[in-house]
Amino acid sequence: MLFPQPSGPPPDDAGHAVCSARGCRAHGVWALRWNNPKLHTPDRRKTWLACDEHRTSLSEFLSLRGFLREVDEVGAPPSEPTDDGP
Ligand SMILES: [Zn+2]
Repeated sequence: MLFPQPSGPPPDDAGHAVCSARGCRAHGVWALRWNNPKLHTPDRRKTWLACDEHRTSLSEFLSLRGFLREVDEVGAPPSEPTDDGP
């Protein structure tokens, strides 16, 4: 019943991972690792990505249901070059 799973969320068509919040297209910089005991084996982890704005609301959604396991920072998007700064 166990199927191979990709190690991370699939990239979207723009080539980067986006926030899992509905309608949000921001870069996901937080990985919310969760598990639904009714659906998943205990060592299974589902991953939602969240931008800074949605990290709290998504993690609260999961933690209220007892699903949230870990939150990992997956890294900020590449920053703009600042060579021409003041
Ligand atoms: Zn978002």
